[in-house]
Amino acid sequence: MSRIAYVNGQYVPHAHAQVHIEDRGYQFSDGVYEVCEVHDGHLVDEPRHMARLSRSLGELRIREPMSSKALGHVLRETVRRNRVRNGLVYLQVSRGVAKRDHPFPKGDVEPAVVVTARSIDPKKTAKSAENGISVITVPENRWERVDIKSVSLLPNVLARQAAEDAGASEAWFVDADGFVTEGSATNAWIVDQDGRLITRPAEFGILRGITRSVIVDLAAREGVEIVERPFTVEEAKKAREAFVTSATKLVTPVVKVDDSVIGNGKPGSISSNLRALFYSQAELSS
Ligand code: PMP
Repeated sequence: MSRIAYVNGQYVPHAHAQVHIEDRGYQFSDGVYEVCEVHDGHLVDEPRHMARLSRSLGELRIREPMSSKALGHVLRETVRRNRVRNGLVYLQVSRGVAKRDHPFPKGDVEPAVVVTARSIDPKKTAKSAENGISVITVPENRWERVDIKSVSLLPNVLARQAAEDAGASEAWFVDADGFVTEGSATNAWIVDQDGRLITRPAEFGILRGITRSVIVDLAAREGVEIVERPFTVEEAKKAREAFVTSATKLVTPVVKVDDSVIGNGKPGSISSNLRALFYSQAELSS
């Protein structure tokens, strides 16, 4: 079956999907994106993703390309046309096409919208959650506005490649004071010896992960204490459990940080339990 992409108002074969060479997303990373999980044919936490998209666009003063409702329709149609039951839908909005010049283009430039969807084998993600993953730590070298979900991801790409090169699955950025900020594409968590969840506050310095926010709600529901504060690499290495969260990884246990084994080297019970309960808290929409 051939894949279909949505590009600026049209559904086109993926192999021929193109944007203009002077798209500002291409030339300046002047754009934002969202990745929404598709679970059993449902979009997961769509309202929260739409709210974050609006915020990212607002922070960059990019015009909303269409209403949330219309965008929701495009997401669903792209999912449907690609026959995705489980996987993800990717949405990118750039400032649009204009003559290459750093300031925002003058006049009413149409934002450029691209949507793609693809299947992910749920067995594969379940397996990495059963075994747990290894993470490496790398110095934080990103700009300060990582709370904006911009497509400017070069440091994240380099960090993730460093993880792959080291035989690990994720890289945690560590700030100048030795505190973990977040992963290259995930939020970072530990469980301390008293069974409390510890994660960095979602103000600035990390992306305000949608999965993170669902886990905060889930923990409150389940009576698991959460402390929102930064934690150091040393604390992580001595933690009872560690895990990462994202729309596609959900809750994935971490069993190794650099050369240090976490707990007994197997996914911890609190992390595994939060993963098992995730869909009872997430919002699924058809
Ligand atoms: N941090 C970064 C840098 C990310 O790219 C992602 C994935 N989008 C996350 C955290 C997790 O966010 P979410 O739970 O919304 O997928």
